[in-house]
Amino acid sequence: MEAAAQFFVESPDVVYGPEAIEAQYEYRTTRVSREGGVLKVHPTSTRFTFRTARQVPRLGVMLVGWGGNNGSTLTAAVLANRLRLSWPTRSGRKEANYYGSLTQAGTVSLGLDAEGQEVFVPFSAVLPMVAPNDLVFDGWDISSLNLAEAMRRAKVLDWGLQEQLWPHMEALRPRPSVYIPEFIAANQSARADNLIPGSRAQQLEQIRRDIRDFRSSAGLDKVIVLWTANTERFCEVIPGLNDTAENLLRTIELGLEVSPSTLFAVASILEGCAFLNGSPQNTLVPGALELAWQHRVFVGGDDFKSGQTKVKSVLVDFLIGSGLKTMSIVSYNHLGNNDGENLSAPLQFRSKEVSKSNVVDDMVVIKYVPYVGDSKRALDEYTSELMLGGTNTLVLHNTCEDSLLAAPIMLDLALLTELCQRVSFCTDMDPEPQTFHPVLSLLSFLFKAPLVPPGSPVVNALFRQRSCIENILRACVGLPPQNHMLLEHKME
Ligand code: NAD
Repeated sequence: MEAAAQFFVESPDVVYGPEAIEAQYEYRTTRVSREGGVLKVHPTSTRFTFRTARQVPRLGVMLVGWGGNNGSTLTAAVLANRLRLSWPTRSGRKEANYYGSLTQAGTVSLGLDAEGQEVFVPFSAVLPMVAPNDLVFDGWDISSLNLAEAMRRAKVLDWGLQEQLWPHMEALRPRPSVYIPEFIAANQSARADNLIPGSRAQQLEQIRRDIRDFRSSAGLDKVIVLWTANTERFCEVIPGLNDTAENLLRTIELGLEVSPSTLFAVASILEGCAFLNGSPQNTLVPGALELAWQHRVFVGGDDFKSGQTKVKSVLVDFLIGSGLKTMSIVSYNHLGNNDGENLSAPLQFRSKEVSKSNVVDDMVVIKYVPYVGDSKRALDEYTSELMLGGTNTLVLHNTCEDSLLAAPIMLDLALLTELCQRVSFCTDMDPEPQTFHPVLSLLSFLFKAPLVPPGSPVVNALFRQRSCIENILRACVGLPPQNHMLLEHKME
């Protein structure tokens, strides 16, 4: 891959100081009011000052479910890139890369050069970001297999790559984790041989100790925790149990019902570490969100947006954007990995169904077919009404290795969250510096059912989500939003 091109914005509004990049930015938007039957649109303008710390930290990522397909594949991908591995396959030699990562393989247009050609740089060049090859991994799993054995169990990577990675992965061993049988499918019990004993409060303390231990033993500046363990059943949100931070902490103290993922979220927040939820269940119950708010720690979720949902959020945008009337969307999946086996249980399937259906109302079927392994099949049927009673049915068939789609998304989540931790801003109305809201909705591009701050609209259209990240990053270096008008080319 091309090395990150360096660039500087030459403008009186942007100062590249030794510690931070400071940019003055005019945020132009509109406010709408209704007067009688008339809509009145008022253009508004707010002056922001963005400050991005330039010092990139040594970042550790702790994966809950480290020994799973996603966890082992992400770890392998970073090692393979760091070691610049290549391996033979029946279709030729392959080299490690980061395809599928917005920050590593996506680009941003800087503008037109003297010849009228667009100049692009990698996304990662817009602001100082942690390089993925420098990430340090650790994590937990209820299964005790080391990461080399976990990689073999996952059956995702070519054998020639696995052989080279084996000595590097063998020494990596997941820490014991919290197993509460009623939250994941009964078919997972056989692998649960690596468990934290004790009460819920003792388990919480152990997770917190693990985070501190990783931070100090690996000499890290920051740790981010990412849930990539199995999909749990939904937990009920009950007043008095998990509706406020205080009640949630009391629930853990008393050993009442709390899901393992919520325990990890609470531990991360209390340790000041961002927590990201890659599975569909409602880990971030209101009490956990309030705790994140109190501790000013970023949380993000839910459910990695890898294959099918990504296409869906593009296709629906296209259909609706073209003025067609979308009437039904039916999704069918079959997959044969451990995630698929866990999802074959009704309560865990229900979590996935809710998360997938969030994008647009539809019907979802998921089948567990062991033979196809990690190579997930997705069939979608989109039916729209055309003018004068016509019908348009689109059918899509998507086959791909699930974990090879998810791993670069996990990478982007960690890198973008870390970057957001270094950004602060103030406005002409409120000179007190602040950071982004603890519910990090900027990550919506990467999540199927994006969590947003209370009262904030959920954006599902993929390219609006991408533009949000791109334009906020551009604002941090004083560049206007990408508007695609190309007026320079529309003049005589
Ligand atoms: P996997 O089953 O291969 O891995 C999950 C791992 O979590 C297993 O090793 C399991 O032992 C471990 N685990 C279960 N409960 C645990 C606990 N309480 N603590 C610690 N470890 C625990 O699954 P996967 O394919 O890696 O997917 C992981 C999650 O990501 C699933 O919930 C899946 O729905 C979600 N997801 C995956 C994709 C994708 O494209 N791969 C997309 C969206 C969401």
